[in-house]
Amino acid sequence: MPLVRLSLLIVAVGSLLSCQSAPQAPEHAGLLVLHNLNLVDVEQGKLQANQLVVVQQDRIVAIAPEQDLAKYPDATQIDAGGQYLIPGLWDMHVHFEGRDLVEDNALLLPVYLAYGITGVREAASNLAPVVLSWRQQVEQGRLLGPKIFTAGQMFEGIDSLWDGDLEVGTEQQMRDGMDKLQHMQVDFIKITENTLQPDLYLATIREARRRGFLVSSHVPYGTSIGELSDAGLSSIEHASYLLRLGFADEGQTAAAVRAGQLTIQQAADHYKTGFDQQLAIKGYQQLAAQHVAVTPTLIGGRQLAHLHDTDHSHDQFLQYLTKDFTASYQWRIDRMKGETAEQQQQRKDKEQLIAAQLPYLWQAGVTLLAGSDSAALNTYVYPAQALHDELELFQQAGLTPAQILQTATINGARFMRQDQDYGSIAVGKKAELVLLHDNPLQNISATRQVQALLYQGQWYDKSQLEQLLQKAAARKQQLEH
Ligand SMILES: [Zn+2]
Repeated sequence: MPLVRLSLLIVAVGSLLSCQSAPQAPEHAGLLVLHNLNLVDVEQGKLQANQLVVVQQDRIVAIAPEQDLAKYPDATQIDAGGQYLIPGLWDMHVHFEGRDLVEDNALLLPVYLAYGITGVREAASNLAPVVLSWRQQVEQGRLLGPKIFTAGQMFEGIDSLWDGDLEVGTEQQMRDGMDKLQHMQVDFIKITENTLQPDLYLATIREARRRGFLVSSHVPYGTSIGELSDAGLSSIEHASYLLRLGFADEGQTAAAVRAGQLTIQQAADHYKTGFDQQLAIKGYQQLAAQHVAVTPTLIGGRQLAHLHDTDHSHDQFLQYLTKDFTASYQWRIDRMKGETAEQQQQRKDKEQLIAAQLPYLWQAGVTLLAGSDSAALNTYVYPAQALHDELELFQQAGLTPAQILQTATINGARFMRQDQDYGSIAVGKKAELVLLHDNPLQNISATRQVQALLYQGQWYDKSQLEQLLQKAAARKQQLEH
């Protein structure tokens, strides 16, 4: 199948129609009809068999039963062979980072598309100006990659561990930083807890909300989750923090840290034993009531828990990652080398306990967002592929495939207030569509078998997606020599 450029077809039809003397254009020229489809309704978690989807430029203009195909004789028709159509997947937590890794990250952008991922939420990095430029170029169709939402730089305290963050020590500095991010037109605010003081942490959330921003954050030991929610937090990044809700004295512990009566290490040790599941569930209900979403990011913890018993040297995805990119994995590997067998087991147990929270969170009504936390600094959390790993971990944790699909489609679109255009297959929405070989409502692993993609008005069949991957692998080789 040659590349189908709908936008060009539309221009041709438009010019013919505007000219009275020209022969009349066929009524449906310029339309693309994808037919013989099993359409996955992610909102209802149901399959609609024998459907067709009509696309004009980059929008869905009609959805109809297969027998309506005869109504579109002049449209470009693509027979989907009874395969399964889902909306493009969104990875709601990635980082494009590394001052010397601009090209190494850039080559991965088309790889996201080949993996069925048409949107990413970039949770801040030391490449903010680059990421903002990519966001614009993708939007304008000058760069092939997923739609990008970015936090730009994240808020931190003075002398934090991180490079390229926005380090603030006073409310005035925080407001100046917020001005800067507003000027950069970031899509949301991200806050992390390395050295940012608790009171300023809460003030940053309030200021972000006052200015109309969504705000995502970690959880410092010096603030309770309830305090963050009350301040207006939009999402908690990493479900590991939620375990603190299983402790009756979470609030007192945070207050003790803030008062200097307890060190961070003592607080961390305190939370190691005594988790109460019923108490945690009450906390999740409170999160749901306050509309705080959660991005679990399980795959990072899984990879670390199995670092000592997994050989990654033959991982297929390494063909897209430069040696410079994977060199940044080493710091965590080194940091964990001294772990005892007992510590390794504790890590695995904790990882299991975190994963086990997902069904409880769902039942409590908490919005879950699928995010991989893929980043050069996050060891063996491979860009694009890690979202699929994450979705499989959700399945192992006990969520249904229908629930999991929501976390990677409509939930993200709603969270970003973009669901008028994205997140499901519906008339009027953008036609960012992924064709799968198998039914993802039976097994979420089906999302790995991407057969074709419609994105920005262009159809990519399997061989064209394969070409995108080959180009990325070739670019990786080129950068290494
Ligand atoms: Zn992250």
